[in-house]
Amino acid sequence: MKINSNMGKVEIRDQKQRYGDSHRGIFALERIEKGEKIWYCECGKKDACFTKDQLLNIIKKNPKLYNFIWSFSYMIDDDLFGLSYNYKDENTIDECVLFNHSCDPTCGFGENGCGDNVIAIRTIEPGEELTYHYGILETESCLIQGLICKCNSQNCVGKLTFDYYRDPVFVNKYFEYMSPYLKKKTLEMNHKWYSIKCYVKRYIPNDSSDDSSCDLEDWRKGLCSLKSISQDELVASFASEEHVQEHMHYLRHNSFDPNCYIIGKNVYACFDILPEVELTVDFGNDSNPQPSAPIRNSSSNDATN
Ligand SMILES: [Zn+2]
Ligand SMILES: [Zn+2]
Repeated sequence: MKINSNMGKVEIRDQKQRYGDSHRGIFALERIEKGEKIWYCECGKKDACFTKDQLLNIIKKNPKLYNFIWSFSYMIDDDLFGLSYNYKDENTIDECVLFNHSCDPTCGFGENGCGDNVIAIRTIEPGEELTYHYGILETESCLIQGLICKCNSQNCVGKLTFDYYRDPVFVNKYFEYMSPYLKKKTLEMNHKWYSIKCYVKRYIPNDSSDDSSCDLEDWRKGLCSLKSISQDELVASFASEEHVQEHMHYLRHNSFDPNCYIIGKNVYACFDILPEVELTVDFGNDSNPQPSAPIRNSSSNDATN
């Protein structure tokens, strides 16, 4: 499985003192040049996929897996997380999951890479830790949201918020090293903006009673609040009204009691919305939903996009 981990030049070291129990890290034994391949394996192809709710359910049923799942799951798409298929035994497939985060990282992902295809993004001296910025892999709805960074770099942000793909400076620096999912999220921002207070969630299909029996790709995607949203707060904005139409399948139609309303290319909250509530809009026509004229006027909010 481990085709070329360049292990001659790196070693795994215990990092308990720095990061806490059972934490390890990967360190350079020799000088590694920028662009050099550090890790290549195919674990990602074998990993199991779960939604966030599924991961939280696994932890609920088996609390001792909390640390393992929290440390070693990673985002591969909206509300989709990869995790070693050996997770029940708390076994990772190999050490590719041991790269720690740094706010001033030495590594990034190679072409089409995730944690299993890591390259040096600058010259790395012997003794330096091999790290990447977790902002090239995770978004706001990740499990490790709010992680306190212990990288000790000069530009350390402390608490990690995982909204870095929204920051043009970060994107300019790291886009080529991002995972395919984060590249997609970054490019999406050109025509589709969601507030950091909501995320695209996968909902189990109505005709399925068992959430483990169906293909995750068949799950319906819907925009869901991640944090509390205030009345009249902007939750989504699209490049044009056509884009609203194109993406409205993420906003569920509800003509009875929608919790959001559309003005032009923007979507606002009708009232205060708690976390983990699906966002709904009245598109105006049950049989053939189309974005309607504003169902509510607001003068208190201007589009920020
Ligand atoms: Zn691997
Ligand atoms: Zn840091």
